[in-house]
Amino acid sequence: MPDIGILALQGDVAEHVRAVEEAGARAVPVRRLAEIEAADGIVIPGGESTTLWRLAVAFDLLDPLRKLIAGGMPAFGSCAGMIMLADRLADGASGQQVLGGIDMTVRRNAYGRQIDSFERPVVLDGLGDEPYHAVFIRAPWAEQVGPGVSVLGTDGGRIVAVQQGPLLATAFHPELTPDRRVHELFVSMVKGT
Ligand code: GLN
Repeated sequence: MPDIGILALQGDVAEHVRAVEEAGARAVPVRRLAEIEAADGIVIPGGESTTLWRLAVAFDLLDPLRKLIAGGMPAFGSCAGMIMLADRLADGASGQQVLGGIDMTVRRNAYGRQIDSFERPVVLDGLGDEPYHAVFIRAPWAEQVGPGVSVLGTDGGRIVAVQQGPLLATAFHPELTPDRRVHELFVSMVKGT
């Protein structure tokens, strides 16, 4: 059973812990570099990407984590986590830094204020015909993806789920609903590396 670290700086850590365990891996909340290095993969939770960025800098984790991900550590980010895994940011806060890894441009708060939270079915490529009940909360979307990125899901033409090698990102929050297909996909990606 793989050990999956849940980056425990801010955001819905407990929900990801539960989801990863239900998907068949051990979930370990992590905030020290040694704990992260000991894990087989890492989840960057939903929350607030500017807070994740500031705390990662304060904990001296931003550069080490960036290097681990660039070096092939499997990672899954939901919502703010998707922002953290983007190589390029649109509408980031002033000076906002990310971890990068996925060759995509992600727009923060892309859906705008008036519909900043909603739930919609999204069909996910490779995860069966049954649409995924996707919860979007001040969600980003990917505006552009490079040739190495597989688009797994779209919402009204907007890219909301992507995979690039061992990296997975969703604009919505699979940790907040009981359907475990996304976490199971990530666990299988971790097992495959
Ligand atoms: N809008 C948030 C951000 O910029 C993300 C929201 C979320 O993770 N639910 O980080």
